[in-house]
Amino acid sequence: MEKLYEQKPDIKEFDAAVVTCQPGKNGLYDVTLNRTAFYPEGGGQPFDTGILEVTGDPETAKEAGTREPADGEKSASRRLTAKVAEVHEKDGRIIHYTDRELPPGSQVHGVIDWERRQCHMRHHTGEHIFSGLVHSHYGYDNVGFHMGQDGVTIDFNGMLTMDQAVELEREANRLVWADLSVEAWYPSPEELHRLEYRSKKELQGPVRIVRVPGGDTCACCGTHVSRTGEIGVIKVTGLKKYKSGVRLEMLCGLKALEDYEKKQEQVARISNLLSAKQGQVAIAVEKLLEESGAQKRQMGQLYQQIFRLRCEQLPRGKEPLLVFEEDLPPAQLRMFVTCLCQEEKGDLVLGCSGSGREYHYVLGSRGEKVEEFTGKLNSLLEGKGSGRGMMAQGLFCASREEIERVWNAGEWRE
Ligand SMILES: [Zn+2]
Repeated sequence: MEKLYEQKPDIKEFDAAVVTCQPGKNGLYDVTLNRTAFYPEGGGQPFDTGILEVTGDPETAKEAGTREPADGEKSASRRLTAKVAEVHEKDGRIIHYTDRELPPGSQVHGVIDWERRQCHMRHHTGEHIFSGLVHSHYGYDNVGFHMGQDGVTIDFNGMLTMDQAVELEREANRLVWADLSVEAWYPSPEELHRLEYRSKKELQGPVRIVRVPGGDTCACCGTHVSRTGEIGVIKVTGLKKYKSGVRLEMLCGLKALEDYEKKQEQVARISNLLSAKQGQVAIAVEKLLEESGAQKRQMGQLYQQIFRLRCEQLPRGKEPLLVFEEDLPPAQLRMFVTCLCQEEKGDLVLGCSGSGREYHYVLGSRGEKVEEFTGKLNSLLEGKGSGRGMMAQGLFCASREEIERVWNAGEWRE
């Protein structure tokens, strides 16, 4: 089994022969080839996807279970084409999981989903450069690495600040723009012994070394871009504490550009909404929050004044009191009920605000616990909500008339 991706990571299409094909899991077939450019999952890099098309000996292909071409299909599309859904390496064999059976012995033409692979190679190489710089500047190791279609996360076993990460990002991008040649080779044991390289674990068998001159030397089985310029750009998009170090999020190439576009669109919208320059939207938002905080405090004071005036209009009493208020949010309703209890307008006070068959409520008392009453009122008025001590709040699914009838009947208090 020749691993074409090891010597030439930029091979997008290749020809090979089917060695074995067996039914596998989930209705897929396990196919091995004599050579392949499909990268199997490994070293933190996801597998390739793509297609395998039978080019040689169509008769064999037919016998081995190809579908009959549907009406209208031209002879050019009669060739058997299988989708490669996953690729894994097991016991030294690279297994392609295909959706069609491919007859052993037949010649196939393989095509890699290049956008997916290119994304992986850019991120993988970007990750090498960044991890190498972190190691040489701070001595931290890359102890966890995840690569997907949404970019890369790297875990380092030491603390980094965002300022430090930004400085490293600059240095990493200088290596990208220098368009350096990325080398990958299997050194002899003697050469390997002399080499200083990063490695996550003790390695057995031949060790493949990947080097970015001036950036990183690392043992790795994955695919990388041939020249650093292909990465385009390396962008750190997040940094947070993780275990004894940090987890860093990173985007490269097209993914970084797409991220920039999304953020640009957001900043432009905020800038328009706040009539602020794009470079000053954070200051504008801070100002807005300050203003809205002040308005909230002012509104709170006004509500207090209104509630006090409303309270003054009501006589003191020792009977249960029911009040309805229009469009009062739950927090203000609570404020009003508290005020009514303090001013001794009733021994129990139920404040409601809403319309139709939906009323927020707050039940307060001057000294009694309200939990039990809340439970009964909820069951009589299809309500939900609860509270402890002398205050409870929730929602009744009932009309104003029903609430008044239940409250006045007094059953809830028995
Ligand atoms: Zn690598």
